Amino acid sequence: MKILIVGAGIAGLTLASFLKEHEGFDVDIIDKAPDWSHLGFTIDIWDVGRRILARLDLDDDFDDLSHPVHSYYVADKKLNNRIVLEHFEKFYKKYPSVLSQINRKDVHAILIKKSECDIRMNLSIESVNDAGDKVLVTFSDKSIESYDLVVGADGIHSQIRELIYPDVKIEYTGDRGWFTWIAQKYVSPQTITEILGPNTMCSLFDNPNQACAFFTAKEIPGTFCDPSTRMDRLKKHFKDYGSPIPEILSELKAEDLMPTDIGFIKTDKWIKGRIIIIGDAAHAMEPFAGIGASMAMEDAYVLADELIQIQLKEIPKALEAYKKRRLPRIKLARHQTRLNYYTDVSKIPGLHFLERVLAPFFSTSHFTKGYARLLETEP
Ligand SMILES: Cc1cc2nc3c(=O)[nH]c(=O)nc-3n(C[C@H](O)[C@H](O)[C@H](O)COP(=O)(O)OP(=O)(O)OC[C@H]3O[C@@H](n4cnc5c(N)ncnc54)[C@H](O)[C@@H]3O)c2cc1C
Repeated sequence: MKILIVGAGIAGLTLASFLKEHEGFDVDIIDKAPDWSHLGFTIDIWDVGRRILARLDLDDDFDDLSHPVHSYYVADKKLNNRIVLEHFEKFYKKYPSVLSQINRKDVHAILIKKSECDIRMNLSIESVNDAGDKVLVTFSDKSIESYDLVVGADGIHSQIRELIYPDVKIEYTGDRGWFTWIAQKYVSPQTITEILGPNTMCSLFDNPNQACAFFTAKEIPGTFCDPSTRMDRLKKHFKDYGSPIPEILSELKAEDLMPTDIGFIKTDKWIKGRIIIIGDAAHAMEPFAGIGASMAMEDAYVLADELIQIQLKEIPKALEAYKKRRLPRIKLARHQTRLNYYTDVSKIPGLHFLERVLAPFFSTSHFTKGYARLLETEP
């Protein structure tokens, strides 16, 4: 089976790694990036993602490069406790290795090594044409090739999705996020700290080799995040926050912060003939549940699992079987993401006040039930 994977990110490389383990697959993989220098910052991987890496015998590599998150700490902007730490400790005890922190570039590197792929960089697609039993692809360098299956694993701004379903658009939440490295002294060991103010949030991560912060605030999507005013805007958004936020901001320069408009893709239009989109291309989620990469890896595993069982002529059947398996889990992950979003940064008036008052009376399972159901079940 001749397969083109468009996008050598987490989903594309995981798929290539699984297919490589089986006979009968001839895989081409391309990426529009000229190199990997843009792979920034830290990423949370839930155990559901680690389990997929374990199926590729990559769990030891992953464990060497990551560390488990022992505590999840939520505070209000004055750094008062809101949802007490012990509740989450119980959750972590129930699910050992539940959540890990790792550099994004390290996840990428172990997958590149495993897939042994010759990735054609700096290359994208001009057109895809499904001709029934083949897909004709014209690449951006004008070369033409024919494939049995084309997989769009090309992220939230997917070109493959745009080509097959131009009506499916990114929906923006109206929040902008800024990632940055920060000094280690500002984070607690193996802890994620979320500091919430209405409409704003700062998350602090103890990444294995350098600490990281992610600021979120309301800004108009698509507007230029002008570096000359960036620090002043951030200081204004976070002016009421308690220590260490003012100290962190005073040490940063505009170029240390990577801005991104937060958006998501909500559609079940994943398949057209012999073309399929997976990972963020199909179901990008806001980063508030830290689950997108784990879901992208699961997609790749399930798609490979369906493809290895079939003959060429059955590709459309395998794609439908894939979709049937993935929809319920993506729905769960999306539900958890929305719950976190409303708890963290939504601008519903009064919600934050209510949360602060009511949070101590809620069981933690209210905040973690989506994760728990994902952890308890197989993809
Ligand atoms: C700020 C932020 C923080 C996040 N934090 C977390 C987290 O902590 N935990 C978590 O699980 N998830 C997190 N996510 C989500 C996670 O990054 C994604 O869900 C995951 O990377 C999806 O993998 P993917 O392979 O589908 O897409 P990507 O990782 O985006 O990979 C897509 C690849 O396709 C390539 N590409 C794009 N367009 C083309 C084209 N036209 N032609 C060829 N190649 C192309 C890109 O260069 C890239 O290499 C976060 C997202 C954001 C924005």
